[in-house]
Formats: sequence, structure tokens, C-alpha cells
Amino acid sequence: MLADRLKTLAPSATLAVQAKARAMRAQGIDVISFSVGEPDFDTPERVKDAARRALTEGMTKYTEVPGIPELRAAVCQKLRRDNGLDYDPAEVLISCGAKHTLYNIFVALLNPADEVLVPSPYWVSYPEQVKLLGGVPVAVATDEESGFQVDPARLRAAVTPRAKAVVLNTPNNPTGAVFAAETLEAVARVAVERNLWIISDECYEALTYEGRHISIASLGPEVKARTIVVNTCSKAYAMTGWRIGYAAGPPALITAMSDVQSQVTANPTSIAQWAAVEALAGPQDEVAKMVGEFDRRRRIVVEGLNRIPGIRCAVPTGAFYAFPNVSALFGRRWQGRPLESSSDVAAFLLEAARVAVVPGVEFGSDRHIRISYATELPTIKEGLSRLEAAVRSLAS
Ligand code: PMP
Ligand code: GLU
Repeated sequence: MLADRLKTLAPSATLAVQAKARAMRAQGIDVISFSVGEPDFDTPERVKDAARRALTEGMTKYTEVPGIPELRAAVCQKLRRDNGLDYDPAEVLISCGAKHTLYNIFVALLNPADEVLVPSPYWVSYPEQVKLLGGVPVAVATDEESGFQVDPARLRAAVTPRAKAVVLNTPNNPTGAVFAAETLEAVARVAVERNLWIISDECYEALTYEGRHISIASLGPEVKARTIVVNTCSKAYAMTGWRIGYAAGPPALITAMSDVQSQVTANPTSIAQWAAVEALAGPQDEVAKMVGEFDRRRRIVVEGLNRIPGIRCAVPTGAFYAFPNVSALFGRRWQGRPLESSSDVAAFLLEAARVAVVPGVEFGSDRHIRISYATELPTIKEGLSRLEAAVRSLAS
């Protein structure tokens, strides 16, 4: 009855685990969710005020498809301020969240069987979006030992004549890696040599705790000309529900994406766009406050995880995820059966510790689990002690 493309579509695993935790809570089960990547902070009041003003002033109609000029100008201002990038508003497209931005990009770029290189571990939606459009995601492994930095030699080796683009996500979901300048330079060289588009997902830019976030587009005009920068208001301004993401890139690609958007959603919500103008162009002090708090939690989470025998967690330098290696638990028995995969470990933790985590296999690594620490500290501490008690109770 349904289209063939649905036969291989995996619904978002991160959202699925969150839904499961919510459903368990609705049944009265006390579940701690380390699943979805969503700031627990409230949207700043100044942003909400801007939305209220927009409502009062009747900003409730269709807007320009690529976004109101004020928001595209605010995006240009942000890219100049934070990334040293010069874009014209005609080179900017506002969409319904960065997830929508990415989908627009893939629709505009991919022919059937075109390949997209995706460094692995990867965020769940890249391969699924590519597959939905008849493209082929090609995972390019990264190593825990190198802090999950992209390996340019492996990237180069994965390029075939069908390769069209590479997705670069720094700071990274799920590993928390922040790609070093040398990594970005090497990736850019491969892209230029092999004529690849660079899709630079910088959604976690604001959440960089060590090192410095660098937009690959800032490495020079030759790189910028083949890069599409993707960002969002979701993380830095705790605006996940408002659904405002954006892209900046070469005008031909932006126009193509805007044409696609004109037939699919048209403009993102008018009120949310006015709120986003305030988020991007207004004072940025709440961002620093939020980052300070995430940084504190990051240290506590990593320390707590590394105290648990059988769990080993490298220190993430960005985003709000820890990506501990749990493979030392494989073979340990729970309810008479050995744990054999990240899904087994996640299922065990949900049942035995009432803690929801996302199995690493969903991100391309079956030896890890993902823990989102975008949750208040007392809950994090309680979750960690539950994890520790459950793991210590495992039979060998
Ligand atoms: N990119 C990455 C790496 C993400 O983790 C997410 C999830 N929030 C997005 C893009 C999309 O974010 P949004 O659609 O909320 O802007
Ligand atoms: N990106 C977040 C996550 O990975 C939000 C959920 C989603 O859109 O996948 O958990």
C-alpha cells in the first residue's frame, strides 16, 4: 500500500526513545530520560516577548518563503559576528528547524544513487534523509582513540564517482567531538580535490567547551563556494519547539532549496521567525550562562560514568552528549541472557535502572550508548547512581 521508500525508513531513534520514556512515565513508572537532545532551559524571556509582540502586531500571515528579510539579515549578522563569514540575505534560507534545512539540501542536491559521505558515528537523521530521497549514505568510520576526529585518508578512500557531498557535524552529535582546524583543513582539501559539496552542520556551535568552533566555510573562498552552513535556534536559545533552522550558502543552491520549500511548507511560522530575530540579534548573555551550566554537568557525567566498572567515557568537548563505550559489559548476564549489543545494554538500563539512553547502533556504533545531559543536575546525579547500581548488579 505504501511507497517502496518506506520499506527501509527507520523513524528517528532519538525521538522514539524519548516517546517510550514519556509513555512509561504516563503509566506512573519513574523513568529518567537521558535520551533526547533538547535543552531543559526555558526559551529566554526576551525571545518570548518578541513573539508576543509579533502576535499583537498581527504578524500572523504568510511571509516570504525563504524567511522575513529581518531574520535573514539577523542570520547574516550572526555569521559575521560569530564565524567571520560574509553572506548576503539572498544567500540565506530559513526553514522549519535544521532538520528541515537538511532535508531541503538533500532534495536539492541528490539524484537517485548519489552518495553522501557521513562520518560515523553520525546523527540518526542524515542517513535516513539521504535514503528517503534515493541517495546512498556512505559511513566513514572515525576512531574513539583519535577523539572521533574525521580521518581525511579514510574520507578520501571512500569517495567514488557517485559521491556528491560530505556531511560534517561539529560539535558532533553523538560523540561530542569538536573537529580540530587541521581536520577541517584536510576535509576541505578532499572536498575541493574531489568536487564534493560540504554540508556543515553547526547546530551545536554555541556548546563548545574546549577548543574553538571553526566553521569550515571560513577556510577560504574556494571552500566557502562549495559549503552550505547549517545552524538552528534550537540549541543555543533553547527553542526546539519553535522550529527555526537556517542555511547559508551559494545562491544557486539556496534558491533551489527555497523553491523546494515553496512547494512543501512555504515559510516557517511567522511568529517564530520574529522570535528568532530577537534570539540571534539580541544580547547573547543567556547563551554563556547556559553553556557554563552544561559544562558543569559534562564533567559530572563523565566522572560518574567512568566510576562504573565496564563503562569507559572519553571527555566530550562539545554538544550535550556523552558517548560512553559499554562494550566491556558484553557477555555479562542479565535475567539469564548475556548482553551482546548496545541495544541490549540500553534495554537493560531502561528495565533495571529506569534510565533511558539511546543505543549507539542507531548512530553507527554498536559499542557505545548515547547519554544526553541536557537535564537538570539532581536528575543527572540520580540517573548516574541508578546506572551504577544496575551495572554493579549484573552477573558475570
Ligand atoms: N543537526 C543535529 C546534529 C542535531 O542533533 C539536530 C537535532 N536537534 C538537528 C540538526 C536538528 O535540529 P532542529 O531541527 O531542532 O533545528
Ligand atoms: N537532535 C536531537 C537528538 O539527537 C533531537 C531529536 C532529533 O531530532 O533527533 O536527540
